[in-house]
Amino acid sequence: MKEKYDLLIVGSGVLGTFHAYHALQKGLSVAILEKNSKPEGATVRNFGQVVPSGMDRKWQNFGKESLNIYKDIQSQFDISIRQNGTVYLASNEEEMQLIEELHQINISNDYESNLLTKEQCLAKYAGLRSDYCTGGLFFPQEVTVEPSTMIHKLHQYMTANLGVDLFMNTTVLNTENRNEEVVATTSAGLEYKASKMIICNGSDFKILYPEIYNNSDLVVSKLQMLQTKPQNNYKLDGSILTGLTIRRYESFEECKSYAAIKAKENPDSFEKKYGVHILFKQALDGSVILGDSHEYAPAKDIDSLGFDLNMDIDNFMIEEAKKIIDLPTYEIQNRWFGMYSQCKNKDIFEHTIGENIHIITGIGGKGMTGSAGFAKHNIDKIFNA
Ligand SMILES: Cc1cc2nc3c(=O)[nH]c(=O)nc-3n(C[C@H](O)[C@H](O)[C@H](O)COP(=O)(O)OP(=O)(O)OC[C@H]3O[C@@H](n4cnc5c(N)ncnc54)[C@H](O)[C@@H]3O)c2cc1C
Repeated sequence: MKEKYDLLIVGSGVLGTFHAYHALQKGLSVAILEKNSKPEGATVRNFGQVVPSGMDRKWQNFGKESLNIYKDIQSQFDISIRQNGTVYLASNEEEMQLIEELHQINISNDYESNLLTKEQCLAKYAGLRSDYCTGGLFFPQEVTVEPSTMIHKLHQYMTANLGVDLFMNTTVLNTENRNEEVVATTSAGLEYKASKMIICNGSDFKILYPEIYNNSDLVVSKLQMLQTKPQNNYKLDGSILTGLTIRRYESFEECKSYAAIKAKENPDSFEKKYGVHILFKQALDGSVILGDSHEYAPAKDIDSLGFDLNMDIDNFMIEEAKKIIDLPTYEIQNRWFGMYSQCKNKDIFEHTIGENIHIITGIGGKGMTGSAGFAKHNIDKIFNA
């Protein structure tokens, strides 16, 4: 431990880690403090789809910057980035209309996308059902990461090449502005000192500043995920997003037909009640990750979401997935849930204590996509302020 750092980061998920990364790029000294022996939050429980195509304009720009950052790191050190693109598969004329409109929007945003006919989709994605797909929109620049390994590899890279100090099993119980510095006190009674501190606590709202979160508009979302056994002799490239995603992701809200198409949906459907949309991504071992659902609670009531998995949701997702792609096997080897936090009225939660302690969380479902780009701007803002 140095006597004093330029920056302390609390939380080693993707948001905290990319803040550390950009500070190190500026030549600052940085320590990351993480309460677990390795990151166990949303950063390791997600799909690993890096999809600026699904974000609103502001976050699409952060996402595009993230693509460059991921690709640049990957060119020096394997952090599991694969550039296989993202596809949105339409299942009917309404969804076709929306992907055609999104294609036009992306032409004017200068972001590469290609409309695919039904035949092109069927040829590109093995097992895709002809009675499901009517066409697709493909984003060739987009990448995937392996959530179970990416953050660990990124930490290895940053330790070996950028000189970050990473302190695991280090729970920060208190932070304070003291004289000209900030101090983080851990459960072991150690004090870490720095000029500035950024707290990226994900959806942990009980340890530091619970009163701030309890009085905020932060909500937590619980998402259920499934993973099949490895598929034999089967390849599914990139991120596969389907009709219900077209009806859910923020980028489509800019399409002129969106509101009218949404107004026709049944508000009492199972997919609406549990926020289900169907996404596929093949992991490196050949298994396919399937998801997901969304159940919400205010930050202060996070425990009401429970620790169990709702089998009705899992069964619904498997049945819907079978209508889309005939995978060689739908035998499930793994089930889990993850949680992320988001604000009701803002795109991210930012709060400053004194001048030098910054809380940044609530990045929602866009953290693997947007963190690298967002953190670059935020480090510039915090250190040039
Ligand atoms: C199921 C699921 C699927 C998703 N799919 C995608 C996707 O495909 N694409 C995408 O872009 N996004 C996706 N997301 C969203 C993305 O995973 C999150 O936005 C992102 O991981 C949030 O990162 P974070 O660093 O803010 O939080 P976290 O990953 O939760 O990290 C917070 C860290 O802070 C630590 N911490 C908290 N308090 C303290 C303390 N007091 N002291 C020390 N350490 C502390 C925690 O232990 C934790 O490691 C998904 C999320 C889920 C749950």
